Amino acid sequence: MPRYLVTGGAGFVGSHAVLALLDRGHEVVVLDNLSQGHRAAVPAAATLVEADLADAKRVAEVFASWRFDAVLHFAALSLVGASMREPLHYLAENVGHSLRLAEVAIKAGCLRFVLSSTAALFGEPDRVPIDEDCRIAPSNPYGDSKRMVEEGLAWAERIHGLRYAALRYFNAAGSDPAGRAGEDHDPETHLVPLAIDAALGRRPALTVFGDDYATPDGTCIRDYVHVSDLAEAHLAALRRLETHGSCRYNIGSGTGASVKEVIGAVERVGGRQVPHSIGPRRAGDPAVLVAASDRLRAETGWTPKLGALDDIVRTAWAWREAHPKGYGDRG
Ligand code: UDP
Repeated sequence: MPRYLVTGGAGFVGSHAVLALLDRGHEVVVLDNLSQGHRAAVPAAATLVEADLADAKRVAEVFASWRFDAVLHFAALSLVGASMREPLHYLAENVGHSLRLAEVAIKAGCLRFVLSSTAALFGEPDRVPIDEDCRIAPSNPYGDSKRMVEEGLAWAERIHGLRYAALRYFNAAGSDPAGRAGEDHDPETHLVPLAIDAALGRRPALTVFGDDYATPDGTCIRDYVHVSDLAEAHLAALRRLETHGSCRYNIGSGTGASVKEVIGAVERVGGRQVPHSIGPRRAGDPAVLVAASDRLRAETGWTPKLGALDDIVRTAWAWREAHPKGYGDRG
């Protein structure tokens, strides 16, 4: 039975990938320091190793204890705003941990690696929809940290024969349709959970960050991709790596939705108003970020099954309504 190491498997996207792997009958070892992830997000069928990637000895022990078919590396600092305040911390953690992890994996003979990368690689994109050949020009240290990791993996490919897949996520949202996992960040900064919580009266009114962009309704357009579809993209990438060399894929549903359209979807699905007001723009927000995922579709056969915005909102709403305190492990 294939066995996978999933770093950050207790986090939002990681936990959904763990479910997808387990659903296929694969064996999963999760490595997570639980700084942002949740113990309860790791299913009993997976083994949880509570450890920090900074602990090189512990990471080496994990590779000595199990033989892995591949590493799926989700664990990272991932907030754009925080990275603008602490650039060196972001770069040191994300780049250092990722490249050391790859090094240990290679030494242990594990030559397949799937990296959680990001649309933030593209900064202000030179064209939309954004395909893999668009200019890489991150406008914040978070995006740049992922660019550096991708480059490090490319060297490992040339020199050590590592096969890697760099998956550039656009806006992951929604939750497992069977209700087994959901989105629980602290602090929560993402639009879909904030809009739902505002509708449920659990948070103050939502602030829309600007309505004077050059878009049809003036609010920013993003490409929301269901987290379970995103998880499936990891399995598709793993299959691809069995027979092909390294790959880099942009992953989105291919259609954009504005902030106002997301609010409309939450109101439609939830049957409640989303109290909101218009505020100033958020620094660093490009007007439109939509992925061209044609390469992923053509090369792996991946296709989003829950691509409609209402599916994303429906599953996110169901989980948040059922879990008012999220995973319930915060004070
Ligand atoms: N957004 C907003 N109000 C909020 C949070 C987000 O208007 O309280 C907007 C944000 O400006 C962006 C979109 O919603 O255009 C998605 O933001 P999110 O933080 O969810 O994801 P990002 O695009 O930053 O990865």
